[in-house]
Amino acid sequence: MLCSTWTMKNAKKVIEKNTSGLITLKTGYGPSGLPHLGTIAEVIRTRMLQQAIELQGRKSKIVTFIDNMDGFRKVPTNLPNQDYLKQFLGMPLFKVPDVFGCCDSFADHNINELNKLINKFGLTEYVEVVKSSDMYISGKFNDAILLVLQNYKKILEVMLPTLGSERQQTYSPFLPISQKSGKVLEVKIEEYKVGEGKIVFYDEGELVEQAVTNGKCKLQWKVDWAMQWHALKIDYEMYGKDLIDSFAVAKPICRILGSQEPVNMVYELFLASDNKKISKSKGNGVSLSDWMQFAPIASMKHFLFLNPERAKKLDIKDLPRYVDAYLHDLKRYHIQLNEKDELIHNNPIFYVHGTQDIPEATDLSYSLLLNIQSGLRSPDYETFISFLQKQKSNLNDTELKLARAVYNYSIYHSNNETVPPPKWIKKYLHIFIEEIKELETGLDMQTKLYDLGNQAVANGDIENLKLWFENIYLVLFNEKSGPRLGPFFELYGKERSVELIKSKLNEDR
Ligand SMILES: [Zn+2]
Repeated sequence: MLCSTWTMKNAKKVIEKNTSGLITLKTGYGPSGLPHLGTIAEVIRTRMLQQAIELQGRKSKIVTFIDNMDGFRKVPTNLPNQDYLKQFLGMPLFKVPDVFGCCDSFADHNINELNKLINKFGLTEYVEVVKSSDMYISGKFNDAILLVLQNYKKILEVMLPTLGSERQQTYSPFLPISQKSGKVLEVKIEEYKVGEGKIVFYDEGELVEQAVTNGKCKLQWKVDWAMQWHALKIDYEMYGKDLIDSFAVAKPICRILGSQEPVNMVYELFLASDNKKISKSKGNGVSLSDWMQFAPIASMKHFLFLNPERAKKLDIKDLPRYVDAYLHDLKRYHIQLNEKDELIHNNPIFYVHGTQDIPEATDLSYSLLLNIQSGLRSPDYETFISFLQKQKSNLNDTELKLARAVYNYSIYHSNNETVPPPKWIKKYLHIFIEEIKELETGLDMQTKLYDLGNQAVANGDIENLKLWFENIYLVLFNEKSGPRLGPFFELYGKERSVELIKSKLNEDR
């Protein structure tokens, strides 16, 4: 058995935990805001693990659990009718109305958006979306909740040392739902009536006795998490680094309830280019909609497969690099499939596309097409695509989709500042545009550039070849790096390339 990918390693562990029967994998979502990249990333990665489990001949299901019983803590600033919404603060999320008027509740509105994403990524058939409210109210969680009540002292022994002294005075694993206000109450529990399945507490000054079952009471988050694992027989859950402490507390509670905690993996959060956590309000990083608009959607899955345990910077400037890494693996995968290479299951593409209906491979790259478009400045997509078709007839489906994404990206992220060429480079580029006329292939043009670079180094005009190429990329594309220039000139066309270089050389420094 090959164990080199995180999917294979995790599959091995989960199969050791659940040695027979259906394996249950869980992901989570708090619908207090719209789902984001991190939300869908968890579902996508869990499906990847499921593929590895399938390779071992075992059956599994994915439960995406929705914490819609949580209290509505603050009104998101991006919602209309702020004042109207304020009266619902403290209510369970599934009781807060949908201000857009299209769904039963605010939570349902967000859940519908998640369902759309799950569908967009082709995961609907693999994922069972389970709402906390349905489980609580229907009584499906009753047995597990009563078990929490029977063990409340042991659970308090785990929880209290993790809390500050003030919080210790009022903490309880139970959050009753007020029958007066409908709010989730964080109140001191005066008495636990274990035999009767009830708790006693003050609500608006009045002492109330209330059942803990049938949705009349929610559990505190960490206890709730442990109860879910126990009640739903969860074998596996991955979670973000911000939940490490919560997991450490939920684990012993799960054992008190008589279950083993799930096999787990901590994934790193996405960082913006400034190394800060990505924030919706700041708009740093790459959003889901950026990705869908500016790159093939499969390249996002590919990105998510790579090293989930390592922190990832997400910068829109790096999008071309992410896509090119995907295209590189795609090309490799086609070769592996043809050669019946057993290492195909180590190729990320297996987890992105499976083994059927794999998109065609391409020799083009995102960065190459982007630089062509930045040279052409095509006024519309049709001009861009007809140019490409003149250079390479029969663009395949992958290439057409790539071209569309590149075109969109170029419109939103075109770098219109021009960098005037340094004087010393002009003489070499003049030589190049004279000699290119005699050259046939991209490879010849590449070789010619190397020769000229070596001359420039020998003449002391520039320190080394790396800087030589950096300067050429800066002159031509205002970027320090880019596609291999020979193949670029070949595809872009010799005459056009000469025009491009000439136009850049006319700018003085
Ligand atoms: Zn809605």
